[in-house]
Amino acid sequence: MIKFPIYLDSHSTTPVDPRVLKTMKPFLEEEFGNASSRFHLYGRRAAKAVEDAREMAADLIGASSAEEIIFTSGATESDNLALKGAAEMYRERGNHIITTAIEHKAVLDSCKALERKGYEVTCLKVDRQGLIDLEELRVAINDRTILISVMAANNEIGVLEDIGAIGRLAKERGVLFHTDAAQACGRIPLRVEELGIDLMSLSSHKMYGPKGVGALYVRKKNPRVRLVPLIDGGGHERGLRSGTLNVPGIAGFGAACALAKKEVPADSARLLSLRERLRKGLFDSLDSVFINGSMERRLACNLNVSFAYVEAESLLIELEKEIAVSSGAACMSANPEPSHVLKAIGVEEDLLHTSIRFGLHRFNTEEEIDFTVKRVAEAVRKIRAQSPIYGLTRGPAAAKENPAHTGREI
Ligand SMILES: *Cc1c(COP(=O)(O)O)cnc(C)c1O
Repeated sequence: MIKFPIYLDSHSTTPVDPRVLKTMKPFLEEEFGNASSRFHLYGRRAAKAVEDAREMAADLIGASSAEEIIFTSGATESDNLALKGAAEMYRERGNHIITTAIEHKAVLDSCKALERKGYEVTCLKVDRQGLIDLEELRVAINDRTILISVMAANNEIGVLEDIGAIGRLAKERGVLFHTDAAQACGRIPLRVEELGIDLMSLSSHKMYGPKGVGALYVRKKNPRVRLVPLIDGGGHERGLRSGTLNVPGIAGFGAACALAKKEVPADSARLLSLRERLRKGLFDSLDSVFINGSMERRLACNLNVSFAYVEAESLLIELEKEIAVSSGAACMSANPEPSHVLKAIGVEEDLLHTSIRFGLHRFNTEEEIDFTVKRVAEAVRKIRAQSPIYGLTRGPAAAKENPAHTGREI
C-alpha cells in the first residue's frame, strides 16, 4: 500500500525516523530539565543526554574530541557562525574568503554580509558537472586568505565536491577550511581528520532527525580554530553559542547520528538502486530528458532532471496530489528566479525552468518509485501534448525523423 503523496523531497527535509522520535519523547515529557541546572537530577539527566548526543555526533564525523561539537539551531546558524565568526576572529590576519557559486544561501548571504563590512570574497565557478577546479582554487588563495568554504554535497543537484583535496590544499597554505555538510552528513561517510576539515556545518532534519537543531564542528587541535560568537549570553557551548539547550532536539539529533553511522552503507546502496530505477524508468519512458550535474560524483539519493518543454511549475501542480517533489529552480516564489545552481552549471535558458529535484529517503520503496515513473511520464506527456513547440520540434512526427531525441546526460 502506497501512502500518498509519495515523499521525494528529502533535500528540503527528511521524515523523522521513529527511533529518533522514541529517543526524544522522554525529554518532552518527564525529563524536562535544563541541561545547565547542575544541582538536581532533572538538570543532570538533561545534561547527560546532551553529552551523549555530542559523543554520537563526534563519533559519526570522526572528530578527535566531543568538545569539538557545538550545538546550534541548524546548518543556517552553523554556516553563519563559521563564516562570520572566523572572519571576525582572524581579521588581523586577513580579509579574504573563498567560496563557490553553488553554495547554499546561508553561505552566500553570509559572504555578502561580510563583503559589506569590507571583506573580499572570491566566488569560484563550477563546470558543467557542478565541480570546482582545484587549480583555480589554488590560484585564488593569497596571503590575506583566511577561510575557504566549499559545500560537501549540493542541495539541488547532489554533486559531491572533492573535499579531501580541498582540505589538503587548505592545510598546505595554512588557510582554514569550512564545509557545509548539511546534505552530505548521514548520507556519505565524512571523517574530519582524514579530510582536513576545520569547520563543518550539520543539520539534524536532513538526516532523519528533528528540525531546529544542528551543529558546527570546530577543530580544537592542528590548528585550534577560534571563533567570535554570534550570540552572547550565558556562555553555553564553550561560549560559542549561548542559550538554553534544546535538549529533546539534541537528543534526537544524537540518535540520528548513531543511526546514520550504523546504516549509511546499507542505506546508500539501497538508495542508489532506487535512484537508478527512477532514472532508467524516466529515460525509458520519455524523450528530451536531461540530467543536471555529474552522475559519477553525486549523492545516491539525488536525481535532478530537466524535462524539456515542460514548465516545472505546471508539472509540480499536475503531480501535487500523488508526488511531493521540488523544482530545481525556486520558481514557486512571487519573483520567479531561476536556480543559481543550475545557472552556475550552465543549464541552457530554455531548460532553466524545467528542472525537477527528486530526493529519495530511507523509507521509500520500489513500489513508490515505479508509481512515480509512471505518473511523471504520464504528466510530462500530457503537458507536452499541449505545447505547440514540442508538437513542432519533438512530437511523435519529429521524433521519427530524428531518432536522437532519446535524452542525454550532460
Ligand atoms: C538545508 C540546508 C541548509 C540549512 O539548514 P537548516 O538546518 O535548515 O538551517 C544549509 N546548507 C545546505 C546545503 C542545506 O541543504
